[in-house]
Amino acid sequence: MSDSKLSVCSECGSKYIAASSKMKAMCPECASILYGYENCDHVFKDGRCIKCFWDGNRSAYIQRLVDGRSDKMDLFRDKYTALQKEFGLGKKMVLSTSENSRVSSRMMSVIHINGEFYFQTDITMKKYHQISANNSVALCIDNIQVEGRCTELGHPLGHAQFCAAFQECFKGSYDAYTALENERLFVVTPHYIERWVYKEGVPYIEVFNIEKQEYSCSQYSGK
Ligand SMILES: [Zn+2]
Ligand SMILES: [Zn+2]
Repeated sequence: MSDSKLSVCSECGSKYIAASSKMKAMCPECASILYGYENCDHVFKDGRCIKCFWDGNRSAYIQRLVDGRSDKMDLFRDKYTALQKEFGLGKKMVLSTSENSRVSSRMMSVIHINGEFYFQTDITMKKYHQISANNSVALCIDNIQVEGRCTELGHPLGHAQFCAAFQECFKGSYDAYTALENERLFVVTPHYIERWVYKEGVPYIEVFNIEKQEYSCSQYSGK
């Protein structure tokens, strides 16, 4: 540590290795929380980080910010877990795909596994070509709208978990199509989900921003 120039953080008061922070008078921890700079990947030994020399203390202000953020993330996780549980294994959903200015929708048999949505389709179908050109897609069921990115996973028979679930939920489709040579499996990874809910007759829009791990529920008042 002797060859590393130390500074004192103006926010938390800890000494830190000057070169470890992008900011002049702030340790990497505080600079990350307040200004979004990349944090040190702290490794603590004897009460200090051996990489940046931060002592682990926080100003009251930073502690409030950190607590607030983790409360928000807990809320998101609770709400999102509940939504996933409610959703169940298999559902018929409308899938919308687009290429250039052409958008198309159709009903699909969709399998939900761990927050992701799986479906199979034939490579000669329009949706296959649209997804190949533009992997941004939307799924819709009842009061739930899902926006996400679609990834091709190869032939469905290569994915045992999907096959078992698909056979359980949509046996007719499984028997008729899954083994066909032209079938391909896709997964939609959602980044944004919106749900309309009514509480005592009042409409609310719930938003699950999965990329930011944020949840909100706000009343809708049309004008
Ligand atoms: Zn600091
Ligand atoms: Zn560190």
